[in-house]
Amino acid sequence: MVPLFDPNPQNAALASGLREAFDSLLASGRFILGPEVEAFEREFAKRIGVPYAVGLSSGTDALLVALMTLDLAPGDEVICPSFTFFATAGSIVRAGGKPVFAEVLPGTFNIDPADVERRITSRTRAIVPVHLYGQAADMDPLMEIAEKSNIAVIEDAAQAFGARYKNREAGSIGTFGAFSFFPTKNLGGLGDGGLLTTNDAALAKKAVILRNHGMDPKYYHQTIGGNFRLHALQAAFLRVKLRHAAGWIEKRRQNAAFYLRRLQQSATGCKSPNDSSSNAQCYEKPILLPHEHADCDHTWNQFTIRVGGGRRDHLKAFLAERQIGSEIYYPCPLHLQECFLSFSEGKGSLPITEAIAGECLSLPIYPEITDAQLASVAEAVGQFLQS
Ligand SMILES: *Cc1c(COP(=O)(O)O)cnc(C)c1O
Repeated sequence: MVPLFDPNPQNAALASGLREAFDSLLASGRFILGPEVEAFEREFAKRIGVPYAVGLSSGTDALLVALMTLDLAPGDEVICPSFTFFATAGSIVRAGGKPVFAEVLPGTFNIDPADVERRITSRTRAIVPVHLYGQAADMDPLMEIAEKSNIAVIEDAAQAFGARYKNREAGSIGTFGAFSFFPTKNLGGLGDGGLLTTNDAALAKKAVILRNHGMDPKYYHQTIGGNFRLHALQAAFLRVKLRHAAGWIEKRRQNAAFYLRRLQQSATGCKSPNDSSSNAQCYEKPILLPHEHADCDHTWNQFTIRVGGGRRDHLKAFLAERQIGSEIYYPCPLHLQECFLSFSEGKGSLPITEAIAGECLSLPIYPEITDAQLASVAEAVGQFLQS
């Protein structure tokens, strides 16, 4: 049996440290913000190489708070990819903005800067690139577009803790970096948690005020915030886990290298999945493998292949029969979600996104997966392709 993800071996190995963190917090009685949250923020900021980190209740709330600092007016537009998790665009609407969905690049699954540039208008206030599956979006052209238009860039780094772009940390490049500590992420907590990173002191202060009802000073409110606080207990657990995170990412990289070696043979002809011109030709090939872009240190939060010829769901079922977990991240792009249809040009408007949504399948790659399990997944995929 190979589950898609299993949090237990990682946490079991750290059980005594996690119990100590719990005992110490229990004894302290400091459950809301306080020293554990402050210490975690300091350690996380240092790890990312930014001066400010603000602990928040989830990755979703990190995106929401970042967008709330922009004070969006009705009609203000925020550009994001359509091929991402719901929260990316859900937060834009909740903050009062209008999501504008951009196309992704077929090789990296990340937002296409040229398409972003085409969608800039006088109402555009921000870009939210997503570092999907653990690999950074192409930040240089995005930052250039943002600087030219004088708009913010909020990196959705929920899946990309530890990723690098041209030797800079994901989440340290834009106006804000939004992180998630959902258990499946690269730094997974024991529950929900999130965080914003920024280089801007004024914006960091604004985020700190917004996460606590917009209160400043106590019981006085110039702005409407919410309760977006990171739990002190979660911060205490995350401090224990942060010390080990680099090793887990290294394991993910090794696991990806293993799959790439093993599956290369099955995926004959798909040698250059990074070549965007190869998009058409992938439909003739059995599968298209993901790859690490030359500018990026991929963290492989997900290992996502493309299965052509309408066979993706068959492969998922074939793996399930062999008790191998897999998942479709994401089957319905955001521009086709019912709740976003009023912001969308509908079916056919983002053809690359729509093609990927019909072909993508993520395989188990969590750090503690065994070599035997990895081999059995690769073997099953190979068998399917020969069947
Ligand atoms: C997980 C995720 C989020 C939301 O994070 P939560 O902590 O679950 O709220 C946002 N964006 C992306 C791309 C994600 O993968």
